[in-house]
Amino acid sequence: MSSESGGSPDEQALGPRGEEIAENLRAVRRRIDGACAAAGRPRDAVRLVVVTKTYPASDVRLLAGLGVREVGENRDQEAAPKAEACADLELTWHYIGQLQTNKARSVAAYADVVQSVDRVRLVRALDAGADRHGRELTCLIQVSLDGDPGRGGALPEDVPELADAIAGSPRLTLGGVMAVAPLGVEPARAFAALAEISTRLRAAHPAATMVSAGMSNDLEQAVEAGATHVRIGTAVLGVRRLLR
Ligand SMILES: *Cc1c(COP(=O)(O)O)cnc(C)c1O
Repeated sequence: MSSESGGSPDEQALGPRGEEIAENLRAVRRRIDGACAAAGRPRDAVRLVVVTKTYPASDVRLLAGLGVREVGENRDQEAAPKAEACADLELTWHYIGQLQTNKARSVAAYADVVQSVDRVRLVRALDAGADRHGRELTCLIQVSLDGDPGRGGALPEDVPELADAIAGSPRLTLGGVMAVAPLGVEPARAFAALAEISTRLRAAHPAATMVSAGMSNDLEQAVEAGATHVRIGTAVLGVRRLLR
């Protein structure tokens, strides 16, 4: 390996795509650092999940080499082969998309965390799928913050029943809550509403401390409101070509 072009040997080995991702990742980590500092929260209170949907397994491999430990996917057809291609990497796979009950068994084979649990039937299917594969899953309840569960997510009033169903499932662990800030709603207000739902949930389930909120455009507001996990795609990997 030549050292003439400068940079550490590791950086030279990354190639142009790796360097681009490394630079974006540094910027995102700086944003999370700044948001934690501004909110008076310890830096290790917030975990970065890099959303790799539409991007290839080779990018996941580059991310793992850059210290990323958690990745997110939203379509089973895409995620299953990608997770298999990356099975040698020490990664936590988060499933963050709307999930049909008939895909639950497939997702249970590779996902470690399912963030989009929004109905009891899906809880049953995930528990059965995890049992089939001899695995355990952490589940987050996705909450709809605009009262329109058509786009996925449970209504806030349905959270307690869902939480009990997850907690009562042998193969599932209740991790907490997840939400996407609805269009047309100030993200800070949406994330404050999610934080309240999390507080109520923890009264009944104290270990369910995860709050997944915040994407490329609103991670600061999410960290301010207490997010423990931010889901960042575009700011790390670039603008996606395909609209999902
Ligand atoms: C795609 C996606 C993200 C990442 O969004 P960016 O704006 O690209 O950071 C986060 N959460 C969910 C549920 C997604 O589908």
